Amino acid sequence: MSSVSEGKTAQIVAVTTSVSREDDTYRYRLNQSYVQAVENARLVPVLIPPLRDVRSVERVLDRVDGLVLTGGGDIAPLRYGAESRNVRSVSAPRDATEIELVLEARRRGIPTLGICRGIQILNVAFGGSLVQDIGTDWPGALAHDQAAPRTARSHSISLEAGSIVREALGAPAMEVNSLHHQAVDRLADGFVVTARSGDGVVEAIESRIDGWWAIGVQWHPEDLVAAPDSPDRGLFNALRRAIGE
Ligand code: MN
Repeated sequence: MSSVSEGKTAQIVAVTTSVSREDDTYRYRLNQSYVQAVENARLVPVLIPPLRDVRSVERVLDRVDGLVLTGGGDIAPLRYGAESRNVRSVSAPRDATEIELVLEARRRGIPTLGICRGIQILNVAFGGSLVQDIGTDWPGALAHDQAAPRTARSHSISLEAGSIVREALGAPAMEVNSLHHQAVDRLADGFVVTARSGDGVVEAIESRIDGWWAIGVQWHPEDLVAAPDSPDRGLFNALRRAIGE
């Protein structure tokens, strides 16, 4: 007996979670759509919560093949040397865990996809900064915190020729959803901006660091992959290819 999948080992991807207090209990949370998008790309998700001892991330990365940084609350502005203004749902343990995860992923060359807060973690971990609140800091910007459902596309982006995201999505421009009030400001060393919305807000960055495949997107591709012909599936498939099938 043989099959196409015979002999292949499914690649495992660490997927980070948030922590928040509800009903007097702290709970770890992750939208189901992340898990489904990763599984649809024939990868196995393993959820990693904020850890008390950040050195534990080394043990996690010993055992996984890729990393997905997910959405959630804001990063503490002190992490990029700024005073706190208009920030929401900061979690120091989550900041510490995710920053250590990406620094260690870079040391090991583990392919990394950052989504929403995840693009911001990539940027801040390597020395970049954030726009703390688009609505107050950039008057005239598009509405990036859409009222429409997460599965609705609400603004367009333009993708840089030759970039990983453009290859993965297969088009020079597309419509995306938008559920963020912060964005990349000063870009981290070792990264390039590969997509922007019409108002100039950074919507994708990617690593130019030798031997490390890492991309960050400001929208939520995991909520846009339901349709079989969704271009956003290409991002998760690109992660699988970067890991090596
Ligand atoms: Mn946006």
